[in-house]
Amino acid sequence: MVTVKKMSNINLAKKVISILKQNGYEAYMVGGVVRDYLLKMPVSDIDITTNAKPYQVSKLFKTKPTGVKYGTVTVYLGTNAFEVTTYRIESEYQDNRHPEEVSFEATVEDDVKRRDFTINGMLMTEALEIIDYVGGKADLQAKMIKTIGNPIDRFNEDALRIMRAFYFQAKLGFQIDKETREAIHTLRGKLLEISNERILMEMIKMFKGPYLKKAIHTMITTGVHEVLPGLKEGLLYVNTLEEMPYIDNFFTLSFALHGSIPNEWKFSNKHRHRYETGAYLAKQPQPYDPYTLYTYGLDFCLLGNRIAYILGYAPNLKQTIEKEYQQLPIQSDLDLKLSATEMIEAVGKKAGAWVKQLQTKMVIEILNRRLVNEKEALRAYAISEQKE
Ligand code: ATP
Ligand code: MG
Repeated sequence: MVTVKKMSNINLAKKVISILKQNGYEAYMVGGVVRDYLLKMPVSDIDITTNAKPYQVSKLFKTKPTGVKYGTVTVYLGTNAFEVTTYRIESEYQDNRHPEEVSFEATVEDDVKRRDFTINGMLMTEALEIIDYVGGKADLQAKMIKTIGNPIDRFNEDALRIMRAFYFQAKLGFQIDKETREAIHTLRGKLLEISNERILMEMIKMFKGPYLKKAIHTMITTGVHEVLPGLKEGLLYVNTLEEMPYIDNFFTLSFALHGSIPNEWKFSNKHRHRYETGAYLAKQPQPYDPYTLYTYGLDFCLLGNRIAYILGYAPNLKQTIEKEYQQLPIQSDLDLKLSATEMIEAVGKKAGAWVKQLQTKMVIEILNRRLVNEKEALRAYAISEQKE
């Protein structure tokens, strides 16, 4: 099923190319699609490179202007989308080569040479022929991740490529070429200039890779673990493990080891809260006491224990935690059998901060099984507590 769908995507890409060619333009599939096609791997998204300008592409297809500034439009064919990008040249290179040219037209060869790695720099025609200006085929055969051109220059242009090298290693299990690895080591500090959102995006992809362990190992041998805020201890730790954690668990355990979440990481509030709470709970005594189970809830307590388990702080207590949580005499203050209104009525005092305080006291008494969660018992407790 899946393969049929992927094949038909390539067939549709062939159709996009053929329409562009019929209209006098050049067009090729490029990048990941060519690499994955040659590796007989499922193709995720299909990029097409062309000498047609975005406005010319949009005259021929149903399109959306996804990144016209960078020459990209998304072309729709039925429910399938293709990123169609006009040939580009790395701007510095362009300046050096054609200083006085005003409107320089990039060729397809320029376009592949501005790309990151040789295995990502191959072109494929409508007839599925491979055109390789960068030695990508040989490197694919040798299972090698190698920058197109001098790695020092290429990482200086864009340090995110450092993270991309690790992503492709995690995805494909390839080696990173020695010179490329040395340049990563030399220029790793430049990652500090890259926005953390972009680094995070590459890390999320990396953590889905079947060869993640290999990539993490290279991150350490190239010293990249030292420049990612708050992740050094976590990377060194998981490098000693057989099995790699999911990314959320990795961040949680890293920040537990580091002691805080560096502000550079622009996580959503939800994720930050999750990592913070998980890291805190990982270090709490386990199994958790009823008040901790009640306060943080089942999911966070399970997370805390999972992290503690990975870190060797506690045994795997999943079942105990689930059972003890289910057996809590009360799981939320909404479960209190005496409502706030009834409490105010019973005590005969004006509503105020005391209501919340009294509810908390009741919950603690119930959790410690010194009070039963029944209306009459709670009413009597409320009156006796508020007498003075
Ligand atoms: P994936 O399977 O993850 O989609 P991909 O190779 O298609 O892998 P993309 O991030 O989709 O990677 O980028 C598409 C292509 O654009 C790459 O194959 C590469 O040729 C080029 N590219 C992407 N990012 C960069 C970059 N930072 N520098 C140079 N070229 C890049
Ligand atoms: Mg892609």
